[in-house]
Amino acid sequence: MSKDTYVIQIPDIIYDENTKICYKKGRFFGKGGFAKCYEITNMANNQSFAGKIVPKKLIVKDNHKEKMTQEIHIHQSLKHKNVVGFYSFFEDTFNIYIVLELCRKRSMMELQKRRKLLTEPETRFYMKQILQGVSYLHHRRIIHRDLKLGNLFLDDELQVKIGDFGLAATIEYEGERKETLCGTPNYIAPEILHKKGHSFEVDIWSIGCIMYTLLSGRPPFESSSLKETYSRIKKCQYKITGNISASAKQMIMTMLQPDPKSRPNVNQLMVHDFLVNGYCPTSLPVSCLTMAPRFD
Ligand code: ADP
Repeated sequence: MSKDTYVIQIPDIIYDENTKICYKKGRFFGKGGFAKCYEITNMANNQSFAGKIVPKKLIVKDNHKEKMTQEIHIHQSLKHKNVVGFYSFFEDTFNIYIVLELCRKRSMMELQKRRKLLTEPETRFYMKQILQGVSYLHHRRIIHRDLKLGNLFLDDELQVKIGDFGLAATIEYEGERKETLCGTPNYIAPEILHKKGHSFEVDIWSIGCIMYTLLSGRPPFESSSLKETYSRIKKCQYKITGNISASAKQMIMTMLQPDPKSRPNVNQLMVHDFLVNGYCPTSLPVSCLTMAPRFD
């Protein structure tokens, strides 16, 4: 066996020594950078969670450790209906285990892949929740820095839960601009590419990209190469096409402005004409994951 070959060991029964809780490992949900995610059930009371399991063998570099610690440190301090609940974390010889709120309906990425386009009422339904979650984060001085459809998880009621704080950062003092970001955010803002210093406005840019994608069926700066995509982002070169209302277009355009200072903050977005003056369902049936609803 070469030194790079390893066997990842995840036991069927996971034991948290600190709390003496035994979890039974259930179905596999998905795989991230280092993590594998399973449904885990507390054997004492049958409560189910998402168990994010990271093999220690994979986090060898100092910056990986640092990122993991930062992710846990930030996520642990959060409690909001639109943020994935963080319950506990622990480790054994082989792995680090993070116990999270279970989001059974996967993420908005699978939803968008399946549906391509969402209706405007559905977009309002999801955007309001995304903004409530981000408003909470920004008030706590946390920038998520990688808001994308795949990090917007959905529970059984199709409530949005913001997750994956692997690239998140805390603003330590009023007016601080972050200079570095280790990683590649999906909907990366131009000021990050220009390495000019960045702050909360990068999340607003990403939310603009998310809203564009939900209503157009594809991301605003999509191209066949990352280099070309980055060049389009720097030039803010995108078009809004398709059957999209004037107020939705305007809302996207305010978020996708090259100058971060020109973008609205999350509180201003929450009262945007598109969200306030248009039909927004109070709940959506799960059939909306696969079929467009009819609002009549
Ligand atoms: P990474 O930080 O390594 O990218 P993610 O947080 O993206 O890991 O999680 C990897 C996968 O695990 C996701 O794509 C998703 O399928 C699943 N997952 C993560 N968190 C949850 C959750 N709270 N509920 C259900 N599935 C989840």
